[in-house]
Amino acid sequence: MEKKVIIAIDGYSSTGKSTVARQLAKKLGYIYVDTGAMYRAVTLYAMQHNFIDQSHFDKEALEQSLSLINIRFEVNSDTGLAEVVLNNKNVEKEIRTLEVSKLVSPVAAISMVRKKLVEQQQLMGKDSGIVMDGRDIGTVVFPDAELKLFMTATAKDRAERRYKELLERGEDVTYEDVLKNVVNRDHIDSTRKDSPLRKAEDAIEIDNSNLTLVEQFEQILAIAKKVIAK
Ligand code: C5P
Repeated sequence: MEKKVIIAIDGYSSTGKSTVARQLAKKLGYIYVDTGAMYRAVTLYAMQHNFIDQSHFDKEALEQSLSLINIRFEVNSDTGLAEVVLNNKNVEKEIRTLEVSKLVSPVAAISMVRKKLVEQQQLMGKDSGIVMDGRDIGTVVFPDAELKLFMTATAKDRAERRYKELLERGEDVTYEDVLKNVVNRDHIDSTRKDSPLRKAEDAIEIDNSNLTLVEQFEQILAIAKKVIAK
């Protein structure tokens, strides 16, 4: 039987990590886990309970409520894609708004939040055969992953992609606002004390600024197949 491995995909905001991770998992018959969705769900919970908004953040209140937050994934039978469920409510749509994007990085910088989610992520990968994307997968969650990828692209390319996505979802946003958010999140994610975003030493860097989705997928699939065959 073919060996099952752990594939860790990290990188900056909106580098298309989740698209390639999802494609790869489908092709290999692996489980796909979008860890950003989990941090977004915790952020949504904090917003719903008025722990955070643009002008204040009651970190202690969130820390004290962590045991009340249950996050899981469920597969949408129409699309076949995993969606996030927060305390038994599907919140897949709500967590993708620019409003959540603007508040998620400060929430993700809290050590207690990271500890809870990382533990859950490590349990998901226990039996291998998993593609997980995020910011600290190759460095903290699965430092022994058989394959680590680190995705980059220029901030302009990333903001353009994210802007189009948000418009398609019907959000009323400006390109400038999206670009600001992408740059701001990268800064907070890379400079936080706990598990900052950085390329693991043994990660392969993929700059997809000038790659089409198909080219990118073929390049990454070839790398993954080599690792699995080893
Ligand atoms: O991947 P996505 O852009 O949805 O992630 C949203 C935010 O969640 C990131 O900007 C980062 O602050 C946080 N995150 C993280 N660690 C991960 C995944 C996401 O800190 N493993």
